[in-house]
Amino acid sequence: MKKMYMNSEWIEAVSGKTRSIINPYNQEVVATVTEGNEEDTRIAIASARRAFDNGEWTSTPAHERGKLVHKIAEMIERNKEELGELETLNTGKTLIESRDDMDGIAEVFRYYAGLADKDGGEVIASPLPNSQSKVVREPVGVCALISPWNYPLLQASWKIAPALAAGNTIVMKPSSITPLTTIRITELMDEIGFPKGVINLVLGSGNSVGGELARNPDVDLISFTGGSEAGRSIMQAASGNFKKISMELGGKNPNIVFADADFETAVDQALNAVFFHAGQVCSAGARLLVEDSIHDKFVDALVERAKRIKLGNGFDESTQSGPLTTAEHRNSIERYVEIGKEEGAKLVVGGKRPEDLELQKGFFYLPTIFTDCTSEMHIVQEEAFGPVMTVERFRTEEEAIKLANDTIYGLAGAVFTNDGARGERVASRLRMGTVWINDYHPYFVQAPWGGYKQSGIGRELSKIGLEEYTEVKHIYRNLSPEPVNWFK
Ligand code: NAD
Repeated sequence: MKKMYMNSEWIEAVSGKTRSIINPYNQEVVATVTEGNEEDTRIAIASARRAFDNGEWTSTPAHERGKLVHKIAEMIERNKEELGELETLNTGKTLIESRDDMDGIAEVFRYYAGLADKDGGEVIASPLPNSQSKVVREPVGVCALISPWNYPLLQASWKIAPALAAGNTIVMKPSSITPLTTIRITELMDEIGFPKGVINLVLGSGNSVGGELARNPDVDLISFTGGSEAGRSIMQAASGNFKKISMELGGKNPNIVFADADFETAVDQALNAVFFHAGQVCSAGARLLVEDSIHDKFVDALVERAKRIKLGNGFDESTQSGPLTTAEHRNSIERYVEIGKEEGAKLVVGGKRPEDLELQKGFFYLPTIFTDCTSEMHIVQEEAFGPVMTVERFRTEEEAIKLANDTIYGLAGAVFTNDGARGERVASRLRMGTVWINDYHPYFVQAPWGGYKQSGIGRELSKIGLEEYTEVKHIYRNLSPEPVNWFK
């Protein structure tokens, strides 16, 4: 049985409860993990608190902290195959994707290891005579890191690497559905040997473990990636002690295709934008906007290719897309598709479970496309987080921008056009944290990631992602102190 990690020890939940972890391809139990609750979470937080307050970790030179973080990158590379297989076993995604995730994760640790000792603070021009003023960044304290099930280790690494590089102590809480790779990386970090209590891992549900992390006054910062509902509840709970918060939430991301775009490229990228990882991607291009003059031809090409997407076992090299991660999630996609039909959108492909015998045990759902969609429809406004694309038409650049921005979200978007100036014009007017021109999905650790509007607060990755885990301090020094004589 897989255990939790606190104060450098592996422990079982106080309640003795356990949870089975399922392979979504065939519903087989692949692991049993201990199931923590509020009590276990308080023990983990106390461990992180002690480790922060005793100062051993915070006074470790940033250069040395960076070296330890760099060792995590090396560990990931050395164990890439095993970690990739675990991720596929637990999420259903293809092994090729999982291996790719692991490469990206190693990069994230390497990047923040390198950044750890690069900010020595700044001397500023003091307006007062005979004085010195400097601004330094310090760690925030105990950081709770809550991650989702779609990119389990990748999303966790975007938090773990900068939090440790900046000198914080951490309590990780992976999704209760997909904890396996986060448990494994904790084992690897244990081998590396961080000071006691710097790294802690709690396993359990969002309401119980996540709720305690959000409420507990000994937690200084909460970094959350997940859905709006949980995000809202965390913000409310975190207000108790005004924790710093950083949130990566959902998206309903527009992908705009102009008639002058390279047709084949735009079709191929539109499919990849929404059907990659069965659409379980926060930045999925689920809302396709196509210029009227090419709309019908574009949809025909999409439908023809969507029918050919090969669903299957993530371990099979010919598989292009795995199952959805849970049965409940598939149920919610099915409800969503029913709503689309009731609203009058036209289902042109998919809209049901596959019939192949081989896929019956997995939580599969066919790539689905709706046309004749309009902004007022729920299926155009709400995040499905599955393999469902809605298609809308537009006639002018202005209309495309208006439709694209007509959403409560603002995570990402794309524009396909061969008119360079138009690409830039549209990109500058989209209210989103990331805009791609003639591409979809690229992200890397050097560039910030995060959302406008209801897609989040703060940014991950890049230098900004490190700053999220720091407090800013101004230190002023009087070089010739003398009485002020105000109260003479
Ligand atoms: P979720 O909100 O259900 O859960 C995310 C994490 O929060 C899990 O660890 C869960 O246990 C925990 N949690 C749930 N309720 C909680 C509560 N009340 N208090 C504290 N913690 C709680 O999300 P999910 O279903 O795991 O992930 C899908 C969502 O995540 C989608 O909306 C997707 O768009 C979003 N997401 C966003 C990004 C991004 O970068 N913006 C990346 C990946 C996923």
